Amino acid sequence: MVDLQSQYAKLQEEIDAAVLEVIRSATFINGPAVREFQANLEQYLGVKHVIPCANGTDALQIALMAAGLEPGDEVIVPAFTYVATAEVIALLGLRPVMVDVDPDTFNVTAELIEQAITPKTKAVVPVNLFGQSCDMEPIVEAARRHNLWVVEDNAQAIGADYTFSDGRRRKTGAIGHIGCTSFYPSKNLGAYGDGGAMYTDDDELAQKLRMVANHGQNKRYYHRLVGVNSRLDSIQAAILNIKLKRLDDYAAARQAAAHYYDNAFAGIEQLQTPKRHERSTHVFHQYTLIVKDGRRDELQAFLSNKGIPTMIYYPVPLYEQEAYRKSMANEMDKLPVTDALCRSVISLPMHTELDEEMLTYISEGVKGFFE
Ligand SMILES: *Cc1c(COP(=O)(O)O)cnc(C)c1O
Repeated sequence: MVDLQSQYAKLQEEIDAAVLEVIRSATFINGPAVREFQANLEQYLGVKHVIPCANGTDALQIALMAAGLEPGDEVIVPAFTYVATAEVIALLGLRPVMVDVDPDTFNVTAELIEQAITPKTKAVVPVNLFGQSCDMEPIVEAARRHNLWVVEDNAQAIGADYTFSDGRRRKTGAIGHIGCTSFYPSKNLGAYGDGGAMYTDDDELAQKLRMVANHGQNKRYYHRLVGVNSRLDSIQAAILNIKLKRLDDYAAARQAAAHYYDNAFAGIEQLQTPKRHERSTHVFHQYTLIVKDGRRDELQAFLSNKGIPTMIYYPVPLYEQEAYRKSMANEMDKLPVTDALCRSVISLPMHTELDEEMLTYISEGVKGFFE
């Protein structure tokens, strides 16, 4: 599904030197590499503050802690996402309210969010799934009308651009109050271990996020808040600094692979190739097809026999997961789009090192199934 070894081979000298430098200088925690990465990412994203942390799940948790929500407050999330999005909400004693997604982009929309708003709703966590932005302008407007926090889960879409109706462009994650991202190795900007970050333009909020991530202190041994311990270590920051310079090239390589797949599958009526939202670029964290004839699992087995790996993101709607069925206050209605997607999506290998030979082999394999 991903080829991190070939990607490393091309950066080996630079990465080895940067990692050794951290070890030789023994600046493992909060060293210069972390500050440098923070500044470089702020510049890349066009945001005032980046607050690094230990992983993407922590980023979401710290963001919701800094928002000062109270137990029982409702937070709206899509049901078609990775568990982390809802997990941190439940963990904080908040109530995840799951909504359906758009069948074309797999993302939540302002309409779906607005239908779920109650007097207890305090925040919404739109997820920029598979590498493209939610349609954020109407989401931000709805949130403003209802006085809600907008915490973007941008773990899968770092580097994508969203265009507002007036032509203004912003990086995904830099649109809501707080953006959260993950540097898990297979993410578009991946470390060689765990890592994450939050970003915001709000000075006061940035200070609070930094405080929560650091045991609730802004002065050593004076704890104003109950916080957590969540840091990006210097070795990971040094690696991310090198990979950040290539992030746009990596996105271009993913887009080229996606384009190849699109053309290869254009004539297969049983498949729906990924649709692009007109307001967002797509950085293809995943290339996800919909199998329309109900034979998704058969296709997966067929490809597996040919040595072609595929993944199902996600096989079960969040509201049907055992842990979340229990945490929901009311019996949930089924969400029809999420339900159908869980039964029909399949993701193909997608990474920065796919060459023509591999793309041909994979797409011929897929086409062979439908012949
Ligand atoms: C990967 C991911 C996360 C969590 O990131 P970790 O760094 O693994 O904690 C959260 N949300 C989404 C949508 C993700 O894909």
